[in-house]
Amino acid sequence: MTEQTFRAAVVDDFGPELAFHDLDMPKPGRHQALVKLHASGICHTDLHAAEGDWPVKPQPPFVPGHEGVGEVVELGEGVHPVKVGDMVGNVWLWSACGHCEHCRTGWETLCNEAEYGGYTVNGSFGTYMLVDTRYCAIIPEGADPVEVAPILCAGVTVYKGLKMTETKPGQFVVISGVGGLGHIAVQYAVAMGMRVIAVDIADDKLELAKHHGAEFTVNAKHADPADAVQEYTDGGAQGVLVTAVHPQAFGQAIGMARKGGTIVFNGLPPGDFPAPIFEIVFKALTIRGSLVGTRQDLAEALDFYARGYIKPTVHECKLEDVNSVFEDLRHGKVDGRMSIRY
Ligand code: NAD
Ligand code: ZN
Ligand code: ZN
Repeated sequence: MTEQTFRAAVVDDFGPELAFHDLDMPKPGRHQALVKLHASGICHTDLHAAEGDWPVKPQPPFVPGHEGVGEVVELGEGVHPVKVGDMVGNVWLWSACGHCEHCRTGWETLCNEAEYGGYTVNGSFGTYMLVDTRYCAIIPEGADPVEVAPILCAGVTVYKGLKMTETKPGQFVVISGVGGLGHIAVQYAVAMGMRVIAVDIADDKLELAKHHGAEFTVNAKHADPADAVQEYTDGGAQGVLVTAVHPQAFGQAIGMARKGGTIVFNGLPPGDFPAPIFEIVFKALTIRGSLVGTRQDLAEALDFYARGYIKPTVHECKLEDVNSVFEDLRHGKVDGRMSIRY
């Protein structure tokens, strides 16, 4: 028997401050589970959500959070791949229709009927949440909830993003932006045998990148990252993964890429950037977006973690700290990822 209400951080109106409310305990519907949270990462997307930054907006009031880890306490109707007591997680791709063209072709992340955790469905900034057990993360046995939480969004997103750069072992990849996503991207890239160059606008972020295995770093505040990368790699990087939260980094990616290279955008700052047509054509560049990952990408990303190749830099906080963490994210002051322990 669980309680009647639970504590959550809620976006009542778009803006900088979340409110704290006691909400009614949700009842798990068909294919759903009620989950008692142990931890939740705080992603920059949660800040975009709370501020209503994107063209497609969530509907307040809602509970953000899509890196939640907790135990199943109740199951709704239907057949489930998990049982009460199992550790599961909510993710951005909370559910999808399962039968459209995108779902049928293994691109459920593009499903038009998809629900998004902490965006269209209440998320993990609360002591309880619902998951759809057909789409939730299955947490590896023995994982520390606080540490594994960032794999559920940051990890799977950059793992998929790196695959989409088509960079091969021994080739160069630039990770632009070494925040929650970027510092984990450095680790996946190293594990995949890539030679990693990290770009950020803060020296402490570049130190973190070196700690996780970057061989060369550029502070884009003090040097032109395109010049520095072209020189270091003798012609540019085969892959560029942009996780930065400023549009300027997206334009700079073009100058850092090698002829025939592939640039993948993960970051989602509001805005646009100027794209030089001549350079894109003459260098025959591929530029593509990448949105989180499929269930298979998630399983693979968690497997890298479980086998010890990925160790997120996480700092623990409390649910009540979420507004101050947002303030730090806004100013690029978070080292790695902040993760709530419940
Ligand atoms: P974060 O705040 O932890 O990290 C952002 C990093 O970008 C910081 O290290 C910051 O110093 C750096 N940065 C800022 N301006 C820069 C510049 N001009 N050049 C280089 N680096 C710069 O954020 P996060 O949680 O890692 O999220 C990053 C972005 O990715 C957000 O926009 C988020 O919404 C988005 N995101 C996308 C997906 C997806 O599926 N595509 C998934 C998760 C997050
Ligand atoms: Zn996220
Ligand atoms: Zn679908």
